Amino acid sequence: MRIPLIAGNWKMNTTVAEAQALLAQMSGALGRIEGVEILLCPPFVSLATIKGMLQGTTIRLGAQNMYWEDKGAFTGEISSLMLSPLCQYVILGHSERRHVFQESDEVIACKVRSALRAHLRPIICVGERLEENEAGQTREVIGRQLKSALTGIGDIDSLVVAYEPVWAIGTGRAATGEQARATSGFIRLVLGELFGQAKASSIRIIYGGSVTAANVAEFLCQPDIDGALVGGASLKALEFISIADQAAGLKGRR
Ligand code: PEP
Repeated sequence: MRIPLIAGNWKMNTTVAEAQALLAQMSGALGRIEGVEILLCPPFVSLATIKGMLQGTTIRLGAQNMYWEDKGAFTGEISSLMLSPLCQYVILGHSERRHVFQESDEVIACKVRSALRAHLRPIICVGERLEENEAGQTREVIGRQLKSALTGIGDIDSLVVAYEPVWAIGTGRAATGEQARATSGFIRLVLGELFGQAKASSIRIIYGGSVTAANVAEFLCQPDIDGALVGGASLKALEFISIADQAAGLKGRR
């Protein structure tokens, strides 16, 4: 039984005060939604404040990135040990980390292992660029990213995989339900090859890339898609509430 996950990635948006205000607009309605796990990933600086505001709710908290060493002379970095008292999840391998900050598959694999050691649940993002998609290389790219990220991992129970085609992120050009279904099915196939069918069918695979309240149902009605990673639309309280509400209606587990 896979509990659907609706995750909001606030990216580098919101000061602490703005994050508090945004959460205040949505926490009541989100807290009443049942059968769906709802996750908010604000910037690092707001994690402690938002954690306080989420006390007594079922809404989960996540970070957007981390470094893989536990501590030391790594100016400006944040480790999994620092995050684990604050939040439950961490987004790793987001396309902006891969392409703006040149994070390699190997770097992402180090981060995944570090997160698991600290009992943080990694949301591993994979996705192809437009030119790779157009060249018919989607499966090759996703297979490579996934296998690399999972190198040396014994137990995948706590993982979530997010399929986020790079060309769909922040562009307003979402994948079609069919494209997302096909690639999510492929991701489950790869997980099955690596960890066995039973494990693969228990892992949540979510779609991300220009998800809105208007198109989320197209993704949620696909059997292999267990939720959404939402960027821009997660900064609009009513829209994010509607996305989570629709997830409860279409896929919610009670
Ligand atoms: C994201 O940040 O992971 C994302 C999918 O962004 P957007 O929804 O804005 O495309």
